[in-house]
Amino acid sequence: MAMKLMITGGAGFIGSAVVRRALSEPGWQIVNVDKLTYAGNLESLPGADESPDYWFSQTDVCDGPALEALFADHQPDAVLHLAAESHVDRSIDGPAASIKSNIIGTYTLLEVARSYYSELEGARRDRFRFHHVSTDEVFGSLGAAGLFTEATPYAPNSPYSASKASSDHLVRAWHHTYGLPTITTNCSNNYGPYQFPEKLIPLVTLNALEGKPLPVYGKGDNVRDWLFVEDHAEALLLVLAEGSIGETYNIGGRNEKTNLEVVEAICDLVDELRPDSHIGPRRELIEFVADRPGHDFRYAIDSSKIERELGFRLKDTFDTGLRTTIQWYLENQDGWCRRVQDGSYRGQRLGLGV
Ligand code: NAD
Repeated sequence: MAMKLMITGGAGFIGSAVVRRALSEPGWQIVNVDKLTYAGNLESLPGADESPDYWFSQTDVCDGPALEALFADHQPDAVLHLAAESHVDRSIDGPAASIKSNIIGTYTLLEVARSYYSELEGARRDRFRFHHVSTDEVFGSLGAAGLFTEATPYAPNSPYSASKASSDHLVRAWHHTYGLPTITTNCSNNYGPYQFPEKLIPLVTLNALEGKPLPVYGKGDNVRDWLFVEDHAEALLLVLAEGSIGETYNIGGRNEKTNLEVVEAICDLVDELRPDSHIGPRRELIEFVADRPGHDFRYAIDSSKIERELGFRLKDTFDTGLRTTIQWYLENQDGWCRRVQDGSYRGQRLGLGV
C-alpha cells in the first residue's frame, strides 16, 4: 500500500529502524520529524538523504506552529508517533523532559493532527491514521506469573511510564471525543542495532568489549520480555496498514529473560566473537550495583491479539536477534558508537534520583 508517512522520532532507535525498512520497500514516502536530542542521530539513516521519498525536519513535537506547517507542506496519509524521552533512568534523575516531550508533545501533535484531519475529505480522510507507539511499562509490574493483555489496567510506576500512560490516555480521548482515527501499540523492551548505548544491551556489549565492569541492577533477577527491533518495525508498518481504528495492540517478543541471563548471554557471545586473553571471560566483569528505585519486577506481554487479528509473526528468536545485534556493535564500535557517544553521555550510572 502506498503511503506518505509522517514519523516522529525517526532518528531514534526504533524510528530509524522503521524508516530504514519503509525506504527499502516500494510505496512508502517518509517525512521524518525529530528534534535530534542526545538520542536522535541522522547517522542511523545511512543513504536516506539520497532518497526522493524522504524528507527530514529538525522539529520539536511541542512546537505546534512548526508542526502545522509540516502537515500543510507534506499532506501525510498517516502519522507514526515515536518521538519521546525514552529512558527510565533519565526520567528519574530529571522528569521534566519526559513530561514535556511525552505528554505536551503528544497533546500538541494530536491537536495539529486533529485540525489537519478535519479538513480531509473522501478517500484521504478514510485512510488517515494516527498511530501512537507506547510501552508495556504503562501496565506496571507483574509477579512471577501472568501476562499483560490489552485489557490490563494501567499502573505506571516511573516518571517515564507515567508520562507514556498519560500520552496513551490523551490518544484514547482524542479518538473518543473528536473521532481522530487513532491506534496505539504497547511493546516490550526492544533491542537491536543503532540503540543508544545507555540501554542495557548496547551498554553491556560495549563495556564487555573494552573489559569494563558490567553493571547489573540489584540481583539481576528482574524479568523483561525482549523484542528484536526489526520485528517491531515490521509490526508497526503492519498495524498502520491493517490495524482497526480505536484499537490497541500489544507487541512482544516471546522472550522473557532475567537481566542477569541477558548480560551472561552477551558475555558469552562477546567471548566467542571477540576473545581477549587480557580481559578473560567477560562474565567475571559482572558487578551487582544498587537497584533502580521502584524497579518493576517483571514485564511480560501477551501479543496474541496482533497475531490473531493481523497475522503478525515474529521472525527472530532471542538467540538470532542477539547475535545480529552483538555483531553489529562489534562492526560499528569505532564508527557509529564512538560518534553517538561524543556527546555528554559517557556510560556513567543514571537513575538513582540524585
Ligand atoms: P530513542 O530515545 O532512541 O529515540 C527517541 C527519538 O525521539 C530521538 O530521535 C529523539 O531525538 C526524538 N525526540 C525526543 N523528544 C523529541 C521531541 N520533543 N520532539 C521531536 N523529537 C523528539 O527512543 P526509542 O527507543 O526509539 O523509542 C521510540 C518510542 O518507542 C518511544 O515513544 C518509546 O517510549 C517507545 N518504546 C520504546 C521501547 C524500547 O525498548 N526502546 C519500548 C517500548 C516503547
